[in-house]
Amino acid sequence: MILQKEMIANLFDELSNASDTGKKVVYTFVPGNLSELIHAFDMLPVYPEINALQSGMRKMSGEYIREAEKYGYSEDVCTYVKCDIGMMLKGNVGPTGKKLPDPDLLLLSYTGCFTFMKWFENLGKLYPHAEIAMLHTPYQENGKITPEMTEYMVKQLREEVIPKMEKVSGKKLDEEKLKHVLENAVKVEDSITNIFNFTKNVPSPIDAYFAGVYYIGPINIGFRGTLQAVEYYEELYKEINYRAKQGLGPVSPEGEIDEKYRLVVEGPPNWTSFREFWKLFYDHGAVIVASSYTKVGGMYDLGFRHDPARPLDSLAEYCMNCYTNLNLIQRTDLLSKCITDFKADGLLVNSIKSCNSFSAGQLLMMRTIEEKLEIPVGFIESDLVDPRYFSFSNLKNRLDSFFQMLEQRKIIRNQMETAL
Ligand code: SF4
Repeated sequence: MILQKEMIANLFDELSNASDTGKKVVYTFVPGNLSELIHAFDMLPVYPEINALQSGMRKMSGEYIREAEKYGYSEDVCTYVKCDIGMMLKGNVGPTGKKLPDPDLLLLSYTGCFTFMKWFENLGKLYPHAEIAMLHTPYQENGKITPEMTEYMVKQLREEVIPKMEKVSGKKLDEEKLKHVLENAVKVEDSITNIFNFTKNVPSPIDAYFAGVYYIGPINIGFRGTLQAVEYYEELYKEINYRAKQGLGPVSPEGEIDEKYRLVVEGPPNWTSFREFWKLFYDHGAVIVASSYTKVGGMYDLGFRHDPARPLDSLAEYCMNCYTNLNLIQRTDLLSKCITDFKADGLLVNSIKSCNSFSAGQLLMMRTIEEKLEIPVGFIESDLVDPRYFSFSNLKNRLDSFFQMLEQRKIIRNQMETAL
Protein backbone atom coordinates (compact mmCIF):
# COMPACT_ATOMS: atom_id res chain seq x y z
CA MET A 1 0.00 0.00 0.00
CA ILE A 2 2.85 2.35 0.86
CA LEU A 3 4.71 1.54 -2.35
CA GLN A 4 1.58 1.98 -4.45
CA LYS A 5 0.77 5.34 -2.85
CA GLU A 6 4.29 6.56 -3.63
CA MET A 7 4.09 5.38 -7.24
CA ILE A 8 0.76 7.10 -7.82
CA ALA A 9 1.78 10.31 -6.06
CA ASN A 10 4.94 10.48 -8.21
CA LEU A 11 2.95 9.95 -11.39
CA PHE A 12 0.54 12.76 -10.52
CA ASP A 13 3.49 15.01 -9.59
CA GLU A 14 5.02 14.29 -12.98
CA LEU A 15 1.71 15.08 -14.63
CA SER A 16 1.31 18.39 -12.84
CA ASN A 17 4.89 19.33 -13.88
CA ALA A 18 4.43 18.22 -17.49
CA SER A 19 4.37 21.75 -18.91
CA ASP A 20 7.77 22.47 -17.25
CA THR A 21 9.43 19.19 -18.19
CA GLY A 22 7.96 19.17 -21.70
CA LYS A 23 6.64 15.62 -21.31
CA LYS A 24 3.68 14.95 -23.54
CA VAL A 25 0.43 13.69 -22.04
CA VAL A 26 -1.78 10.92 -23.40
CA TYR A 27 -5.35 10.39 -22.24
CA THR A 28 -6.37 6.78 -22.79
CA PHE A 29 -8.50 3.92 -21.37
CA VAL A 30 -7.72 0.95 -19.12
CA PRO A 31 -9.10 -1.91 -21.27
CA GLY A 32 -6.81 -2.23 -24.25
CA ASN A 33 -4.32 0.28 -22.85
CA LEU A 34 -1.10 0.66 -24.80
CA SER A 35 1.02 1.56 -21.76
CA GLU A 36 4.12 0.01 -23.27
CA LEU A 37 3.94 2.21 -26.35
CA ILE A 38 3.33 5.28 -24.17
CA HIS A 39 6.47 4.45 -22.17
CA ALA A 40 8.46 3.79 -25.30
CA PHE A 41 7.76 7.41 -26.30
CA ASP A 42 8.45 8.76 -22.76
CA MET A 43 4.95 10.17 -22.55
CA LEU A 44 2.72 10.28 -19.48
CA PRO A 45 -0.65 8.52 -19.28
CA VAL A 46 -3.92 9.81 -17.81
CA TYR A 47 -6.77 7.36 -17.36
CA PRO A 48 -10.12 9.15 -17.09
CA GLU A 49 -11.85 6.05 -15.61
CA ILE A 50 -9.26 5.91 -12.83
CA ASN A 51 -9.77 9.60 -12.04
CA ALA A 52 -13.52 8.97 -11.95
CA LEU A 53 -13.30 6.03 -9.57
CA GLN A 54 -10.90 7.94 -7.33
CA SER A 55 -13.32 10.88 -7.30
CA GLY A 56 -16.02 8.37 -6.32
CA MET A 57 -13.96 7.07 -3.40
CA ARG A 58 -13.29 10.66 -2.29
CA LYS A 59 -17.02 11.46 -2.36
CA MET A 60 -16.55 14.07 -5.09
CA SER A 61 -18.21 12.28 -7.98
CA GLY A 62 -21.77 13.35 -7.08
CA GLU A 63 -20.87 16.99 -7.59
CA TYR A 64 -19.03 16.29 -10.86
CA ILE A 65 -21.92 14.23 -12.21
CA ARG A 66 -24.39 17.01 -11.44
CA GLU A 67 -22.08 19.46 -13.23
CA ALA A 68 -22.06 17.27 -16.35
CA GLU A 69 -25.84 16.85 -16.20
CA LYS A 70 -26.24 20.65 -16.00
CA TYR A 71 -24.07 20.79 -19.10
CA GLY A 72 -26.53 18.51 -20.90
CA TYR A 73 -25.47 14.89 -20.26
CA SER A 74 -28.47 12.66 -19.62
CA GLU A 75 -29.02 10.61 -16.50
CA ASP A 76 -28.48 7.43 -18.52
CA VAL A 77 -24.94 8.23 -19.63
CA CYS A 78 -22.13 6.16 -18.06
CA THR A 79 -21.25 7.89 -14.79
CA TYR A 80 -17.49 7.53 -15.39
CA VAL A 81 -18.00 9.79 -18.41
CA LYS A 82 -20.06 12.34 -16.50
CA CYS A 83 -17.69 12.32 -13.54
CA ASP A 84 -14.71 12.86 -15.83
CA ILE A 85 -16.37 15.64 -17.87
CA GLY A 86 -17.70 17.27 -14.67
CA MET A 87 -14.21 17.20 -13.13
CA MET A 88 -12.82 18.81 -16.26
CA LEU A 89 -15.53 21.51 -16.26
CA LYS A 90 -14.69 22.25 -12.64
CA GLY A 91 -11.01 22.89 -13.35
CA ASN A 92 -9.60 19.36 -13.91
CA VAL A 93 -8.09 19.02 -10.47
CA GLY A 94 -7.04 15.38 -10.11
CA PRO A 95 -7.39 13.01 -7.16
CA THR A 96 -4.20 14.26 -5.48
CA GLY A 97 -5.48 17.86 -5.48
CA LYS A 98 -3.17 18.94 -8.30
CA LYS A 99 -4.37 20.18 -11.66
CA LEU A 100 -4.09 17.66 -14.46
CA PRO A 101 -2.52 18.80 -17.71
CA ASP A 102 -4.57 18.93 -20.90
CA PRO A 103 -3.98 16.00 -23.25
CA ASP A 104 -1.54 16.31 -26.14
CA LEU A 105 -2.95 13.07 -27.52
CA LEU A 106 -6.32 11.38 -27.07
CA LEU A 107 -5.49 7.72 -27.67
CA LEU A 108 -8.73 5.87 -28.09
CA SER A 109 -8.10 2.19 -27.90
CA TYR A 110 -11.61 0.93 -28.51
CA THR A 111 -12.25 -2.44 -26.89
CA GLY A 112 -15.86 -3.49 -26.98
CA CYS A 113 -17.54 -0.56 -25.20
CA PHE A 114 -19.19 1.90 -27.58
CA THR A 115 -19.23 4.53 -24.80
CA PHE A 116 -15.46 4.84 -25.16
CA MET A 117 -15.98 6.24 -28.62
CA LYS A 118 -18.61 8.79 -27.59
CA TRP A 119 -16.53 9.73 -24.53
CA PHE A 120 -13.48 10.65 -26.61
CA GLU A 121 -15.63 12.30 -29.26
CA ASN A 122 -16.71 14.67 -26.48
CA LEU A 123 -13.19 15.09 -25.11
CA GLY A 124 -12.11 15.88 -28.65
CA LYS A 125 -14.50 18.86 -28.60
CA LEU A 126 -13.42 19.95 -25.13
CA TYR A 127 -9.71 19.72 -25.99
CA PRO A 128 -9.64 20.91 -29.61
CA HIS A 129 -5.81 21.20 -29.69
CA ALA A 130 -5.22 17.53 -28.84
CA GLU A 131 -4.32 15.05 -31.57
CA ILE A 132 -6.67 12.06 -31.75
CA ALA A 133 -5.59 8.52 -32.59
CA MET A 134 -8.10 5.72 -32.75
CA LEU A 135 -7.32 2.03 -32.61
CA HIS A 136 -10.32 -0.06 -33.53
CA THR A 137 -10.36 -3.49 -31.90
CA PRO A 138 -12.51 -6.11 -33.63
CA TYR A 139 -15.01 -7.74 -31.26
CA GLN A 140 -14.54 -11.47 -30.61
CA GLU A 141 -17.93 -12.22 -32.13
CA ASN A 142 -17.10 -15.87 -32.82
CA GLY A 143 -14.92 -16.28 -29.75
CA LYS A 144 -11.71 -16.43 -31.78
CA ILE A 145 -8.88 -14.12 -32.75
CA THR A 146 -8.08 -14.76 -36.41
CA PRO A 147 -4.78 -13.81 -38.13
CA GLU A 148 -6.78 -11.29 -40.21
CA MET A 149 -7.98 -9.54 -37.04
CA THR A 150 -4.42 -9.23 -35.75
CA GLU A 151 -3.21 -8.00 -39.13
CA TYR A 152 -6.01 -5.39 -39.21
CA MET A 153 -4.93 -4.06 -35.81
CA VAL A 154 -1.18 -4.08 -36.53
CA LYS A 155 -1.87 -2.07 -39.68
CA GLN A 156 -3.65 0.56 -37.60
CA LEU A 157 -0.80 0.60 -35.08
CA ARG A 158 1.72 1.12 -37.88
CA GLU A 159 -0.26 3.58 -39.96
CA GLU A 160 -2.34 5.51 -37.43
CA VAL A 161 -1.31 5.14 -33.81
CA ILE A 162 2.50 5.12 -33.97
CA PRO A 163 2.74 8.00 -36.51
CA LYS A 164 0.47 10.13 -34.27
CA MET A 165 2.60 9.27 -31.23
CA GLU A 166 5.75 10.15 -33.19
CA LYS A 167 4.23 13.45 -34.25
CA VAL A 168 3.13 14.41 -30.72
CA SER A 169 6.29 13.25 -28.93
CA GLY A 170 8.69 14.47 -31.65
CA LYS A 171 10.51 11.10 -31.47
CA LYS A 172 10.78 8.06 -33.69
CA LEU A 173 9.66 4.78 -32.15
CA ASP A 174 12.64 3.10 -30.47
CA GLU A 175 11.90 -0.57 -31.08
CA GLU A 176 14.60 -1.78 -28.68
CA LYS A 177 13.13 0.34 -25.92
CA LEU A 178 9.65 -1.00 -26.65
CA LYS A 179 10.98 -4.57 -26.42
CA HIS A 180 12.57 -3.82 -23.07
CA VAL A 181 9.32 -2.32 -21.74
CA LEU A 182 7.46 -5.39 -22.96
CA GLU A 183 9.91 -7.66 -21.11
CA ASN A 184 9.00 -5.85 -17.90
CA ALA A 185 5.31 -6.20 -18.75
CA VAL A 186 5.70 -9.98 -19.02
CA LYS A 187 7.27 -10.15 -15.53
CA VAL A 188 4.39 -8.09 -14.10
CA GLU A 189 1.82 -10.29 -15.85
CA ASP A 190 3.45 -13.44 -14.40
CA SER A 191 3.40 -11.92 -10.92
CA ILE A 192 -0.23 -10.78 -10.97
CA THR A 193 -1.31 -14.22 -12.22
CA ASN A 194 0.55 -15.90 -9.36
CA ILE A 195 -0.92 -13.40 -6.88
CA PHE A 196 -4.52 -14.09 -7.90
CA ASN A 197 -3.84 -17.82 -7.91
CA PHE A 198 -3.29 -17.64 -4.15
CA THR A 199 -7.08 -17.52 -3.76
CA LYS A 200 -7.15 -21.23 -4.61
CA ASN A 201 -5.97 -21.72 -1.02
CA VAL A 202 -8.58 -22.43 1.63
CA PRO A 203 -8.78 -20.05 3.41
CA SER A 204 -7.82 -17.56 0.75
CA PRO A 205 -5.12 -15.17 1.98
CA ILE A 206 -6.63 -12.27 0.00
CA ASP A 207 -9.95 -10.97 -1.25
CA ALA A 208 -9.69 -10.96 -5.05
CA TYR A 209 -12.28 -8.20 -5.52
CA PHE A 210 -12.23 -5.68 -2.69
CA ALA A 211 -8.46 -5.95 -2.23
CA GLY A 212 -7.99 -7.14 -5.81
CA VAL A 213 -8.97 -3.73 -7.18
CA TYR A 214 -5.99 -2.25 -5.33
CA TYR A 215 -3.67 -5.00 -6.55
CA ILE A 216 -4.49 -4.26 -10.18
CA GLY A 217 -3.97 -0.51 -9.61
CA PRO A 218 -0.37 -0.14 -10.85
CA ILE A 219 -0.97 -2.38 -13.89
CA ASN A 220 -4.05 -0.43 -14.86
CA ILE A 221 -2.74 3.08 -14.43
CA GLY A 222 0.16 2.79 -16.77
CA PHE A 223 2.97 1.15 -14.78
CA ARG A 224 2.71 -2.27 -16.44
CA GLY A 225 5.96 -2.09 -18.43
CA THR A 226 8.04 -0.32 -15.78
CA LEU A 227 10.72 -1.57 -13.41
CA GLN A 228 8.76 0.00 -10.55
CA ALA A 229 5.83 -2.29 -11.35
CA VAL A 230 8.10 -5.35 -11.52
CA GLU A 231 9.40 -4.52 -8.02
CA TYR A 232 5.97 -3.64 -6.65
CA TYR A 233 4.47 -6.97 -7.73
CA GLU A 234 7.45 -8.96 -6.45
CA GLU A 235 6.94 -7.31 -3.06
CA LEU A 236 3.19 -7.92 -3.13
CA TYR A 237 3.77 -11.57 -4.05
CA LYS A 238 6.14 -12.01 -1.09
CA GLU A 239 3.64 -10.51 1.34
CA ILE A 240 0.76 -12.68 0.16
CA ASN A 241 2.93 -15.77 0.01
CA TYR A 242 3.77 -15.20 3.66
CA ARG A 243 0.05 -14.95 4.54
CA ALA A 244 -0.72 -18.12 2.55
CA LYS A 245 2.05 -20.08 4.28
CA GLN A 246 0.76 -18.99 7.68
CA GLY A 247 -2.81 -20.01 6.71
CA LEU A 248 -4.03 -16.44 7.27
CA GLY A 249 -7.25 -15.08 5.77
CA PRO A 250 -7.78 -11.73 3.97
CA VAL A 251 -7.52 -8.44 5.81
CA SER A 252 -10.52 -6.12 5.81
CA PRO A 253 -10.59 -2.54 7.21
CA GLU A 254 -11.80 -4.14 10.47
CA GLY A 255 -9.28 -6.95 10.72
CA GLU A 256 -8.84 -10.47 9.43
CA ILE A 257 -11.81 -12.16 7.77
CA ASP A 258 -12.80 -15.60 8.97
CA GLU A 259 -13.67 -17.20 5.62
CA LYS A 260 -17.13 -18.77 5.55
CA TYR A 261 -18.27 -18.39 1.95
CA ARG A 262 -16.18 -18.26 -1.20
CA LEU A 263 -17.69 -16.22 -4.02
CA VAL A 264 -17.05 -15.24 -7.61
CA VAL A 265 -18.29 -11.74 -8.48
CA GLU A 266 -19.24 -10.48 -11.91
CA GLY A 267 -19.25 -6.72 -12.55
CA PRO A 268 -17.41 -3.69 -11.20
CA PRO A 269 -17.74 -2.61 -7.56
CA ASN A 270 -19.46 0.49 -6.24
CA TRP A 271 -16.86 3.15 -5.49
CA THR A 272 -18.86 5.85 -3.68
CA SER A 273 -19.56 3.59 -0.68
CA PHE A 274 -16.74 1.12 -1.19
CA ARG A 275 -16.12 0.47 2.52
CA GLU A 276 -19.83 -0.01 3.36
CA PHE A 277 -20.20 -2.26 0.33
CA TRP A 278 -17.26 -4.46 1.38
CA LYS A 279 -18.57 -4.61 4.96
CA LEU A 280 -21.79 -6.21 3.69
CA PHE A 281 -19.60 -9.13 2.61
CA TYR A 282 -16.98 -9.49 5.32
CA ASP A 283 -19.57 -9.23 8.09
CA HIS A 284 -20.87 -12.57 6.75
CA GLY A 285 -17.39 -14.06 6.28
CA ALA A 286 -17.79 -13.82 2.49
CA VAL A 287 -14.50 -13.75 0.59
CA ILE A 288 -14.31 -13.09 -3.13
CA VAL A 289 -11.95 -15.62 -4.68
CA ALA A 290 -12.21 -14.36 -8.27
CA SER A 291 -13.91 -11.58 -10.17
CA SER A 292 -14.34 -10.55 -13.77
CA TYR A 293 -13.63 -6.92 -12.93
CA THR A 294 -10.00 -7.54 -11.97
CA LYS A 295 -9.52 -8.91 -15.49
CA VAL A 296 -10.77 -5.75 -17.18
CA GLY A 297 -7.23 -4.50 -17.83
CA GLY A 298 -5.96 -7.86 -19.11
CA MET A 299 -6.64 -11.60 -19.11
CA TYR A 300 -3.27 -12.75 -17.86
CA ASP A 301 -4.64 -15.73 -15.92
CA LEU A 302 -5.86 -17.27 -19.16
CA GLY A 303 -2.32 -17.21 -20.46
CA PHE A 304 -2.06 -13.94 -22.35
CA ARG A 305 1.42 -12.38 -22.21
CA HIS A 306 2.90 -9.51 -24.18
CA ASP A 307 5.64 -10.82 -26.43
CA PRO A 308 8.84 -8.75 -26.87
CA ALA A 309 9.64 -10.82 -29.98
CA ARG A 310 6.33 -9.82 -31.64
CA PRO A 311 5.71 -6.37 -30.15
CA LEU A 312 2.92 -5.03 -32.35
CA ASP A 313 1.17 -8.37 -32.81
CA SER A 314 1.09 -8.91 -29.09
CA LEU A 315 -0.18 -5.38 -28.39
CA ALA A 316 -3.01 -6.14 -30.83
CA GLU A 317 -3.74 -9.51 -29.20
CA TYR A 318 -3.73 -7.87 -25.78
CA CYS A 319 -6.48 -5.45 -26.87
CA MET A 320 -8.58 -8.18 -28.47
CA ASN A 321 -8.32 -10.31 -25.32
CA CYS A 322 -9.84 -7.71 -23.01
CA TYR A 323 -12.84 -8.83 -20.98
CA THR A 324 -15.12 -6.18 -22.51
CA ASN A 325 -14.18 -7.50 -25.95
CA LEU A 326 -15.32 -11.08 -25.23
CA ASN A 327 -18.70 -12.40 -26.33
CA LEU A 328 -21.27 -13.66 -23.80
CA ILE A 329 -20.38 -17.33 -24.26
CA GLN A 330 -16.72 -16.59 -23.52
CA ARG A 331 -17.64 -14.51 -20.47
CA THR A 332 -19.94 -17.28 -19.18
CA ASP A 333 -17.21 -19.89 -19.69
CA LEU A 334 -14.69 -17.69 -17.93
CA LEU A 335 -16.94 -17.21 -14.88
CA SER A 336 -17.70 -20.96 -14.78
CA LYS A 337 -13.99 -21.74 -14.89
CA CYS A 338 -13.36 -19.32 -12.01
CA ILE A 339 -16.12 -20.94 -9.92
CA THR A 340 -14.69 -24.41 -10.51
CA ASP A 341 -10.97 -23.57 -10.25
CA PHE A 342 -11.35 -21.43 -7.13
CA LYS A 343 -13.86 -23.76 -5.41
CA ALA A 344 -16.49 -21.01 -5.05
CA ASP A 345 -19.77 -21.60 -3.18
CA GLY A 346 -21.73 -19.14 -5.30
CA LEU A 347 -21.83 -16.47 -7.98
CA LEU A 348 -22.90 -12.89 -7.35
CA VAL A 349 -23.65 -10.37 -10.08
CA ASN A 350 -23.29 -6.68 -9.30
CA SER A 351 -25.17 -5.06 -12.13
CA ILE A 352 -24.01 -1.50 -12.73
CA LYS A 353 -26.76 0.86 -13.78
CA SER A 354 -24.64 2.98 -16.05
CA CYS A 355 -22.31 0.35 -17.53
CA ASN A 356 -24.01 -1.32 -20.47
CA SER A 357 -20.79 -2.98 -21.46
CA PHE A 358 -20.74 -5.12 -18.33
CA SER A 359 -24.49 -5.32 -17.63
CA ALA A 360 -25.76 -6.52 -21.01
CA GLY A 361 -26.41 -10.26 -20.81
CA GLN A 362 -25.58 -10.62 -17.11
CA LEU A 363 -28.92 -12.25 -16.25
CA LEU A 364 -28.51 -14.75 -19.07
CA MET A 365 -24.96 -15.57 -17.95
CA MET A 366 -26.12 -15.95 -14.36
CA ARG A 367 -28.99 -18.33 -15.26
CA THR A 368 -26.75 -20.38 -17.56
CA ILE A 369 -24.18 -20.83 -14.80
CA GLU A 370 -26.86 -21.62 -12.20
CA GLU A 371 -28.19 -24.43 -14.41
CA LYS A 372 -24.81 -25.76 -15.45
CA LEU A 373 -23.02 -25.74 -12.10
CA GLU A 374 -26.05 -25.97 -9.77
CA ILE A 375 -24.73 -23.34 -7.42
CA PRO A 376 -26.53 -20.48 -5.64
CA VAL A 377 -26.52 -17.24 -7.62
CA GLY A 378 -27.38 -13.71 -6.52
CA PHE A 379 -28.10 -10.43 -8.29
CA ILE A 380 -27.65 -6.94 -6.86
CA GLU A 381 -27.70 -3.50 -8.46
CA SER A 382 -25.61 -0.40 -7.79
CA ASP A 383 -23.56 2.10 -9.74
CA LEU A 384 -19.91 2.97 -10.25
CA VAL A 385 -19.66 6.55 -9.03
CA ASP A 386 -23.20 7.94 -8.83
CA PRO A 387 -24.06 8.04 -5.11
CA ARG A 388 -27.78 8.28 -5.98
CA TYR A 389 -27.71 4.63 -7.02
CA PHE A 390 -26.23 3.09 -3.89
CA SER A 391 -29.02 1.94 -1.58
CA PHE A 392 -27.45 0.37 1.49
CA SER A 393 -30.67 -1.17 2.88
CA ASN A 394 -31.68 -2.59 -0.48
CA LEU A 395 -28.30 -4.21 -0.99
CA LYS A 396 -28.22 -5.48 2.58
CA ASN A 397 -31.64 -7.16 2.20
CA ARG A 398 -30.63 -8.88 -1.00
CA LEU A 399 -27.23 -9.96 0.28
CA ASP A 400 -28.66 -11.23 3.57
CA SER A 401 -31.06 -13.45 1.59
CA PHE A 402 -28.22 -14.61 -0.65
CA PHE A 403 -26.06 -15.58 2.33
CA GLN A 404 -29.02 -17.44 3.89
CA MET A 405 -29.34 -19.38 0.65
CA LEU A 406 -25.62 -20.21 0.73
CA GLU A 407 -25.94 -21.35 4.33
CA GLN A 408 -28.90 -23.62 3.52
CA ARG A 409 -27.02 -25.10 0.60
CA LYS A 410 -24.02 -25.83 2.82
CA ILE A 411 -26.21 -27.55 5.42
CA ILE A 412 -27.86 -29.74 2.76
CA ARG A 413 -24.50 -30.59 1.21
CA ASN A 414 -23.08 -31.57 4.62
CA GLN A 415 -26.14 -33.72 5.38
CA MET A 416 -25.80 -35.51 2.06
CA GLU A 417 -22.09 -36.12 2.61
CA THR A 418 -22.81 -37.52 6.09
CA ALA A 419 -25.56 -39.79 4.73
CA LEU A 420 -23.16 -41.17 2.12
S1 SF4 B 1 -20.04 1.89 -20.04
FE1 SF4 B 1 -18.80 0.61 -18.65
S2 SF4 B 1 -17.06 -0.14 -19.88
FE2 SF4 B 1 -18.00 1.58 -20.97
S3 SF4 B 1 -16.84 3.37 -20.32
FE3 SF4 B 1 -18.60 3.24 -18.94
S4 SF4 B 1 -17.86 2.02 -17.20
FE4 SF4 B 1 -16.37 1.74 -18.86
